[in-house]
Amino acid sequence: MSTTWHVLGAGSLGTLWATRLARAGLPVKLILRDAARLQAYQATGGLTLVEQGEARVYAVPGETFDSSGPIKRLLVACKAYDAQTAVAQLASRLTPDAELVLLQNGLGSQEAVAAQVPQARCIFASSTEGAFRDGDWRVVFAGHGYTWLGDASHPVAPFWLDDLSTAGIPHEWTPDILTRLWRKLALNCAINPLTVLHDCRNGGLQQHHCEVATLCAELTELLEQCGQPAAAQDLQQEVERVIHATAANYSSMYQDVANQRRTEISYLLGHACAVASRHQLVLPHLAQLQQRLIAHLHTRGLPSD
Ligand code: NAP
Repeated sequence: MSTTWHVLGAGSLGTLWATRLARAGLPVKLILRDAARLQAYQATGGLTLVEQGEARVYAVPGETFDSSGPIKRLLVACKAYDAQTAVAQLASRLTPDAELVLLQNGLGSQEAVAAQVPQARCIFASSTEGAFRDGDWRVVFAGHGYTWLGDASHPVAPFWLDDLSTAGIPHEWTPDILTRLWRKLALNCAINPLTVLHDCRNGGLQQHHCEVATLCAELTELLEQCGQPAAAQDLQQEVERVIHATAANYSSMYQDVANQRRTEISYLLGHACAVASRHQLVLPHLAQLQQRLIAHLHTRGLPSD
């Protein structure tokens, strides 16, 4: 009998994972924030995944935090700023050998979650898959990609990666998950805040080459000083490549701000600046970028944490 996948957060990535696991015949349960959300979900009849224009409903069972029953495997699929509080509500249900997969972007939330559940194994993930909600309980699979998983303190891969293969979730186990997360964070810091401040698509940053280059130099220094030299390699070249390859796209932070949604700034640029100050590194352009972004978020009435 397979272990049940408890999925915390029925948003874009949570739905993308839950529906693929369920359609492969694996046991999945959704954990929703309260009885009202559970009732709303049950009235809908399931999660809808839209793939290549075709919508299919998957009747994944739902429950709330207060449901009884142990949790052995938990996929944490909420935003970085919600992860710690959401996992805390479940801590008493985790078995002594529980394993958590943390899908959050950026850095900082994973350590906060892990500190809260010291008995559990926390596996960090970094995904290039793309999905968005186009309605309640309805998600569009927008971009195929890959999910890297790893555990910086324990290099052996868990046996249940087979479930991901069965479910057709492209993935790879890596001993260098922190390098991947830092690299993605650095790319995000060099691109996303500037797209918000210059009100442009990624390609618009080609007009701000010097600003991007200065940020890349400071980010490279940060990565080298904080023990992530591999994540620093040829950073500027990759940032320029990404700007070019995704020129027509709006960054995730741009979309969050445009839609009046809270950003994950504290776990991206905020985390970079916090680590710089912990290492007593003076990175004036990065610090100034953070101040400009915070001021911008305030003018839009959005939280800056
Ligand atoms: P999302 O669509 O906003 O989904 C987050 C879900 O978490 C929501 O359904 C929300 O519930 C739920 N949630 C929050 N607090 C909760 C709580 N206390 N109890 C139960 N549920 C709770 O976010 P997402 O886009 O999937 O992103 C999740 C993470 O993956 C982020 O860190 C993001 O950066 C990262 N990521 C996303 C993508 C992507 O393409 N979407 C790609 C790569 C990485 P409600 O519906 O009730 O608000």
